[in-house]
Amino acid sequence: MAKKYDVIIIGAGPGGMTAALYASRANLAVLLLDRGPYGGQMNNTDVIDNYPGFSEIKGPELGEKMYQSITKFSPDFEYGDVQSVKLDGQNKLVKTDTGDYTAPVVIVATGADHKHLNVPGEEEYSGRGVSYCAVCDAAFFKDEDVAVIGGGDSAIEEGIYLSQLAKSVTVVHRRDQLRANATLQKRAFANKKMNFVWNAQTESITGDGNKVTGITYRDKETGEEKKLAAAGVFIYVGTLPQTTPFKGLGVTDEQGWIPTDAKMHTKVPGIFALGDVRAKDLRQIANAVGDGSIAGQEAYNYLQSLEDK
Ligand code: NAP
Repeated sequence: MAKKYDVIIIGAGPGGMTAALYASRANLAVLLLDRGPYGGQMNNTDVIDNYPGFSEIKGPELGEKMYQSITKFSPDFEYGDVQSVKLDGQNKLVKTDTGDYTAPVVIVATGADHKHLNVPGEEEYSGRGVSYCAVCDAAFFKDEDVAVIGGGDSAIEEGIYLSQLAKSVTVVHRRDQLRANATLQKRAFANKKMNFVWNAQTESITGDGNKVTGITYRDKETGEEKKLAAAGVFIYVGTLPQTTPFKGLGVTDEQGWIPTDAKMHTKVPGIFALGDVRAKDLRQIANAVGDGSIAGQEAYNYLQSLEDK
């Protein structure tokens, strides 16, 4: 028998936790589900300096504070990897690897995960020098030369983090301008350990059969193929929406992101989406939290409208 709730929130990052806060504060029976620990991407972030109330705070610490602040309204928190969500009249049946749950409202807050470069050597050396998480793996590269692929906020933020331990950090970017925000750019350009290779398309990750030794890249201006030696290669080339279990519901766009209206409603009544998984331009903790407050309140409004029918 599927366990019954008013609202099931899938994903316990900052947006999902905020939706849980608003919905449980409205006295709804709320389940917050995640396949890992609460906190989402904050757990892989060293320092957060753009969340109001904290001039600087460690990512996992902010996640813990958010979780502690929602527990007073007693939403349930369960581990579970969601396999599918199916419509059952007004209810939605959520199947996970650990149990089944049902509710009239499902809020998708599953966020986004790192994209792969899809070049030779990437898969072979994954975990042997290729990494997607500086906070997790930086310690393995103390006093080594490392490369960071990408030019967005993640690449630069994580590059700065790596520079605390590594001997040098070379950012390899496919254009001649970073995409990262101005504050991060300023910090990176002022960082003596950070170097930049521009107009460079990474073509392969090289190794000695055991571990990474560097990359090869094509200089897009001259067409020349060049080599860069590095003990670690950190890949930050964008993100992919985590929406596989929701594909059958018809709520995703061609790229897999979930479009919503300003009140976080998807195309399907009673299914909401929030935070990084939405089709939107700016993906930040601050606006995930904003989305979460709207989705939590809209869940309440939606349930009221069912009662009024
Ligand atoms: P992103 O903003 O999409 O940047 C991806 C970077 O990788 C871009 O510089 C892109 O180059 C490059 N790239 C993409 N495909 C590539 C390929 N095949 N080969 C080489 N380079 C490639 O992704 P992100 O940095 O992971 O950020 C994701 C979202 O989270 C963004 O909305 C970001 O603002 C947000 N975020 C914010 C913060 C913060 O506020 N502190 C921190 C982390 C992330 P081009 O520039 O040429 O497209």
